[in-house]
Amino acid sequence: MSERQLIRNATVFDSATGKLRPRCQIVIEAARIVAVGDEPMQVDDVARVIDAAGRVVLPGLIDAHVHVVASSHDLSGLALQPPSLVTAHSGQILRDMLQRGFTTVRDAAGADFGLQEAVERGLFEGPRLFIAGFPVSQTGGHADMRPKGVRQREFFCSCAGLGLIGAIADGVGEVRRAVREQVRNGANQIKIMAGGGVSSPTDPLEGTQFSVEELRAACEEAEAANLYAMAHAYSPRAVTRAVQAGVRSIEHGNLIDEATARVMKSHGAWLVPTLSTYVALADEGEKLGWSKAMLDKLKTVHERGIDSLKIARAEGVPIVFGTDLLGHMHARQSGEFLLRLGAMSPVEVLQSATIEAARLMRQEGQIGEIVPGAWADLLVLEGDPTRDLSMLADGGVGLRLVMKSGHVYRDTLPSPGAMSSTQSA
Ligand SMILES: [Zn+2]
Repeated sequence: MSERQLIRNATVFDSATGKLRPRCQIVIEAARIVAVGDEPMQVDDVARVIDAAGRVVLPGLIDAHVHVVASSHDLSGLALQPPSLVTAHSGQILRDMLQRGFTTVRDAAGADFGLQEAVERGLFEGPRLFIAGFPVSQTGGHADMRPKGVRQREFFCSCAGLGLIGAIADGVGEVRRAVREQVRNGANQIKIMAGGGVSSPTDPLEGTQFSVEELRAACEEAEAANLYAMAHAYSPRAVTRAVQAGVRSIEHGNLIDEATARVMKSHGAWLVPTLSTYVALADEGEKLGWSKAMLDKLKTVHERGIDSLKIARAEGVPIVFGTDLLGHMHARQSGEFLLRLGAMSPVEVLQSATIEAARLMRQEGQIGEIVPGAWADLLVLEGDPTRDLSMLADGGVGLRLVMKSGHVYRDTLPSPGAMSSTQSA
């Protein structure tokens, strides 16, 4: 039986140019796009025809900063849960992300090769998953979740080994070993903690983490395995050191200034802001029992979030879509599209969640673009997303079809019978 599918009368969003191409046909063979064009083409032996009826077709969306194992905002509690339960929750988080139109996600630590394989084998419905394994952190760094006074090096003795547990490493030798362990376990990118964080109990937000030699060692080991490092960092100092050491993407980056953005630009680094998590925590942090110190840190980064996008954009630093949500707050993932409109145009936001994310992840031609050879990750929407992104918000209210690797996971297009009356030529 033919595995060929045809989407006709599509208005294709060309993520490279940011322009819409009306009246296109997209030919899909098994999991890949094989042809795209606005010229009439003869396509034989088609198993399925999808009439987009002039609607916009977007490449599947990419969220470049998620934690699919973060089923709870309580990261210490999460580390004590049995792996079976964490995995079950992750399955649901992955399914919901795919339903919102995210066909690829880059996990910023937590997910392992088991989850990745569960998606690949079709055991879990979810986006294609790029994993980092454990985040590499110094003692007392952002992924060291031990409260003050705890002396055991391995605080989390739980059976799980899932959750957001850091690989604690001090000194060049330990850092190399920690990175190599992630590589050994199939990491697609290496996550390092290069500065203070909001959710960690003992580190100052504006501080730097790891010595320059340690940062270099981490990047060197990542590059040795043909991978790259992504670094958690907020302050100008932390961002500058990380980028100069060879880090490819700065995660969050809320406190950057113009000079720091220029350093990022000159080193070819990307910025992955995650605005929605600060909005979510500003709304809910107190209710969730966060400490005063954590809420104070949150206030600082929340206020500076949108400014960091404006600064990066003005200096020409490429910006990629990320969210960094935890627990029930994952439901806010699509809200990120609207938050970014304070600093970017709708087209720029779409590019940040498609082609720019693909460039950062070294996946150009595979994802984030509707071109022959790419995975058949496609969304059909109501409305014009180059003017207005509200159809993507609220969990993707205006999403009519979600396809990943040629397989349809959501379809609320009018049925073929009903469609004939509204169909254009
Ligand atoms: Zn994160």
